[in-house]
Order: sequence, then C-alpha cells, then structure tokens
Amino acid sequence: MDFSEEDEFAKDEPLLSARIISPEDHPITPEQIDRDALFILRKLADAGFAGYLVGGGVRDLYLGKTPKDFDISTDARPGQLRKLFPHSNTIGRRFRLVQVFFKSSKIIEISTLRSLSEYELDGPEEVLAPNNTFGTLSEDARRRDLTINSLFYEIKKGTIIDYVGGTEDLNRGIIRIVGEPTRRIGRDPVRMLRAIRHAARNNFTIESETWKAICNSCEKLSLCPPSRLRDEFFKDLYGGVAHPWFLLAADSGIFATLFPFYRKIFLKSSHDGNSPKAILARIFQTIDRANSLAIHQNIHRQPDFFVFALVLIPWVEARWQLFSEFRKSNTLFQLAKQIRDEVDRTIGTDLNLRRSLRQDMVSLLINLSQLMHNKVSDGWPKWLKRKSYFSRTMLFYNFYTEALTGEPVDAESLVIDVPPQPPENLRPIQDAITPQEKKRPAPPCKPAFSSKTKGGIFGFKK
Ligand code: ATP
Ligand code: MG
Repeated sequence: MDFSEEDEFAKDEPLLSARIISPEDHPITPEQIDRDALFILRKLADAGFAGYLVGGGVRDLYLGKTPKDFDISTDARPGQLRKLFPHSNTIGRRFRLVQVFFKSSKIIEISTLRSLSEYELDGPEEVLAPNNTFGTLSEDARRRDLTINSLFYEIKKGTIIDYVGGTEDLNRGIIRIVGEPTRRIGRDPVRMLRAIRHAARNNFTIESETWKAICNSCEKLSLCPPSRLRDEFFKDLYGGVAHPWFLLAADSGIFATLFPFYRKIFLKSSHDGNSPKAILARIFQTIDRANSLAIHQNIHRQPDFFVFALVLIPWVEARWQLFSEFRKSNTLFQLAKQIRDEVDRTIGTDLNLRRSLRQDMVSLLINLSQLMHNKVSDGWPKWLKRKSYFSRTMLFYNFYTEALTGEPVDAESLVIDVPPQPPENLRPIQDAITPQEKKRPAPPCKPAFSSKTKGGIFGFKK
C-alpha cells in the first residue's frame, strides 16, 4: 500500500499537537545531563536559539539508564552553529550535523531541526535520499525512527515535548516506528535494525504493525550501503544484548537477509536441541558473556574477525562438516579456499568486510578444525602448541565448547589476553594448517618507506 502526500499528512494530522510533560511528571532532572551538553544548550539559549536534548539521551534518562551520548537539536543553522562553537566541524551527507569538540576528546553532535521532506518523495530511487531541509519541532519528531527516540527535553522549563506518544510507549515498554511503518522502512531500511536493537536492549515488545512491516520488508536491507549494514551489525554484536538481538533478527528474517547462507540451514531441526539455529543462539549468548567479562575486567575484547568467525561456526559445520569430519592438510587447504570464496561472494561483499578480516576469519575456522582433530587425551601435541596461532585458536575453542555444550566454561577461559597475530602477509593460510612444525625464519619486516632510505620515499630520487 502506498500513500499519496495528502493521505500521509491527513493520517498524521492529530499528532501535530504535542503532549507537554512537566518536570514533576517525568524522571529527568537537569543534574543528570552531561555538563558539556548543558553548556551547549545554555549557549544556544543565550544566542536566542531554541535547543533541545533529543533522541537516545532523553530515552535513556527517562528509563533511568546512563546515555551513551547526548544529542542536541536546534533551530540554528549549521553555519550559525559553526560560528557559535569555534571548535566544531560539519559532517554527514544524508543529514548534516555539527560536531562540537570538547577536552578529553568528547564530541557532542548538534542537528538542525529537519523537515518531513522524506514524505514528499516517492519511488524506489528515493530510498535513502538526502533529507536536509530545515523544519519545525513537530516535523523533526515525525521524521525520527522510533516513538521512544522522538522526545525533546528543554532545559528552561524542564519539560518533555512528545508529538508521537513516545512517553506512553516508554511507560508500556513498546517499540513503534513513527508514522506508517512500511513507508518509513522503505525510506530507510536501517530503521528495522534500529527497531530490533532497541527492543533487545530494553527488553521491549515490538508493536504488531511495526513487527509485520519488518517481517515483510527484510529484503530491503540489501538497498543499504554494505558498510552501513556492517557497522550496524557490529554495534549489535558488541552491544551486550547480542543474544536477544539474534532471536528477533532470526524470527523476523533479518538475520537470514544479512547472512543469506543461513536461510536454508535454519530450517534444519534437531531433537537434541543442537540445531544450527540453537547453537548459533548459544554462540550469541557466549559473545555477550565474554563482552561483559571483558568490560568488568577492563581488558580488550576479542578482535572483529574472532567474533565474526564465531557467527560462522554453524554454517561451516552444516555446509562442509568442518569440525565433525577429519581431513588431511592438503584437503583442508582446498576447503579453506572454498570457504574463503563463498565468504567473498556473500557477506564479504554484502557487508563490505575488509580482506584481512575475511582471511583471518577463515584461518581461525580452519585452525579450530585442526585443533579439534589433533586433540589427544592430555591436551594437544607439542608441534601444535608451538604454532603461533595456538593460543588464539584455543580461546576460540573455549567459546565453541561453551556454545556447543551450553555449559559455561571458566570465566578465565573466555578472556585470555592473546598477543596480536603477525600481519596477514606474513602468515599464508598454508602455514596455518601445516601439521608438521617447520622452522622457518620470519621474513624481515621492512617499513614501507623510511626517511633514511636512499633515494627517498618509494625509491624516487630526493
Ligand atoms: P544510542 O544509544 O545507540 O546512541 P540513539 O537512539 O541515540 O541510540 P543515534 O544513532 O545516536 O542512536 O541516533 C540519535 C537519534 O537520531 C535517534 O534517537 C533517532 O531519533 C534519530 N535517528 C537515528 N537514526 C535514524 C534513522 N535511520 N531514521 C530516523 N531517525 C534516526
Ligand atoms: Mg545516541
């Protein structure tokens, strides 16, 4: 179903009147607001502009959580903001934002209130079209993604301004896309990812019209730039609620759109609770546990290729029986190439994964197979333990064991600090799977260029 412009505005007309929630009726106080955000709001007011705390900052404060960042909206234009805040920069192609820099490398983003220009567009070519026309407070609220993200807090009176029923949805624990969900998703499909993210984060229920629209529109994600999808996926992978996120992503069809090779595999059931989907769900649980352990122990989480490779485990097992079938090294090497080709053809392209990440993921999966098939009663043989990749693969094995058995392994086994691996070009994949330890001197590591090199940079004469 498609709306004409008049339909759209007629439908939303009653929302134009805002609910104003006075300070005694909501939990937000100015003391909870970041000092630098308050500085910006006050400076805007002194210069005669309106300024509001918006988006995730208001949502999280309302829920009693500590916001990740404080975003500000104003009726000042980007040029005026740049003059008002000398330490600032303008960014963004779709939405022009002004970033204000503070000491301690904090950045606060200010956006100028935007109009509903996206509603005036029509046709597939208008998906993700720029939306930079300035607008009113009510227009700005209605072009945001979710009702719970569309609230404004203004400091002078301490009121919340709600055009879309966001406070009611916060009170009732509901995720609802602002406006007509299918149409809003059509304009920017990433809103689907944002809806399931915030449902997972807050343990909220997705309202039925929004849920239906998400289930019917998953395929539209392929219209988004691959790097945007990758960044969004990493946010969910590391956000601490990857497990509930996965359940929603799998049920809605979003997961199979991002990882198309799982579509058929998810249809496989199992009587022992070990279907690929069930194992993957437990892998996401382990990822959450490891992330939270890393945060509490203040150590680095595992690198992207490690966490991403975990997500591929049920696929490589279902497709090639990588872990259940023993293979000799040269067969394993051939298989590594096949896996790599398939990764390149699918997620490598669709999520714009860099070459080293794809390579490292496949190596890790192959090494895990190696580790599993060479296990002896009291551990692993010496030749394997001496491999440069042994400690990282051992850690990967611990993650895998926890996910497979559903039994938590020792916390220490998930958060070993593994030294960085040598760069990719010094570690060809054959090396990673050769069973015999070959002592090979490491190639000398030369800098790409050096001021001391004769002939100057790249060998040209100075
Ligand atoms: P987080 O806690 O992850 O920062 P957030 O909701 O603040 O959550 P941001 O990416 O910081 O997320 O976005 C700030 C605000 O911008 C959102 O709250 C929402 O109002 C608006 N927004 C972000 N992305 C979209 C989108 N794709 N469509 C419409 N509005 C959006
Ligand atoms: Mg935010």
